[in-house]
Amino acid sequence: MTQVFNFSSGPAVLPPEVLRQVQAELLDWHGSGMSVMEMSHRGPEFGQILAEAEADLRTLLGIPSNYKVLFLQGGAHLQFAMLPFNFAAADSTVDFVNTGHWSKVAIKEVSRYAKVNIAASSEDKNFSYVPDEATWQRSKDAAFLHYCSNETIGGVEFNFIPQSNGVPLICDMSSNILSRPVDVSQFGMIYAGAQKNMGPSGVAVSIVREDLLGKARSETPTMLNYKTFADNGSMYNTPPSFGIYVAGLVYKHLLAQGGLAAMEAKNIEKANVLYAAIDASNGFYHCPTALADRSRMNIPFTLADSQLDAQFLAGAEERHLLQLKGHRSVGGMRASIYNAMPLAGCQALAAYMAEFAQQHG
Ligand SMILES: *Cc1c(COP(=O)(O)O)cnc(C)c1O
Repeated sequence: MTQVFNFSSGPAVLPPEVLRQVQAELLDWHGSGMSVMEMSHRGPEFGQILAEAEADLRTLLGIPSNYKVLFLQGGAHLQFAMLPFNFAAADSTVDFVNTGHWSKVAIKEVSRYAKVNIAASSEDKNFSYVPDEATWQRSKDAAFLHYCSNETIGGVEFNFIPQSNGVPLICDMSSNILSRPVDVSQFGMIYAGAQKNMGPSGVAVSIVREDLLGKARSETPTMLNYKTFADNGSMYNTPPSFGIYVAGLVYKHLLAQGGLAAMEAKNIEKANVLYAAIDASNGFYHCPTALADRSRMNIPFTLADSQLDAQFLAGAEERHLLQLKGHRSVGGMRASIYNAMPLAGCQALAAYMAEFAQQHG
């Protein structure tokens, strides 16, 4: 099998150890004679898989006992719609910090069901930074404050947790969950699609403080009510069982590597390798993100001469450095370097960048 480094923004690279374990267990999970795909979600085997996945995620993130862990479907997008139904009365106002593409998608959806106040926005500089918290214009009685801790497309990451001010903090952590330790107790709710840093697509995880449950609007569809899933251990209906199983193996793999503090150290080292390559290029490469807010997970960069983009990508592919094309809204390149991207992948890309700049600079 060709050894590649996969810089996809999502669905993204998974730990090879996990994929090999999935392969080994695919036809016969733990001597059951069945694939996880073939098991009743109500049976003891899947019950164990789900319980271990939740317990391991709780250990990794240090999730306090007054938070529910829910495994859901519909991706982060469905959460955008669920938020107002569950956490905002029809006449209430919701505060948002707008730092880019995913903030905007969430704002658009929530605006359909609640009043939205944009407490802060970095649109003035093309979403290249996180607005200073001291300048945020928060409303008096917000139902919640929402932000996106890592803008996957823009490559902008919060390096702080906003003040709650007594208002539930709700965070879209789809693309940096499990990349660093986080104090869950600061949040009303955290949610994330699995396919960036946790597992395959088709699973989303929500971590919800218990006192926020049970207040959904009366018209809330059963399947959009977090309480439905909280009351039924994520099994009101058939859960995305195979995806939960793979995510569970990823959690075990992270624990075996020393947990999130160890991952954070590795992720800092990896990101530094690529930012150094950009910064050392004398302007051949450019990263638009403000220094202090540079993402450790998604590193967008452009070439000064965009005519060279296609050649850069072709050369990268020859070296098995894959899926580096930037998002269509930004152009250029984007290297997504989630937990499962090894340091060697970042070093290989940095070496190629230097070589390409030397040839074309
Ligand atoms: C990918 C992504 C989403 C969208 O996730 P889906 O699972 O496709 O709905 C939302 N927010 C962030 C930060 C993302 O990275």
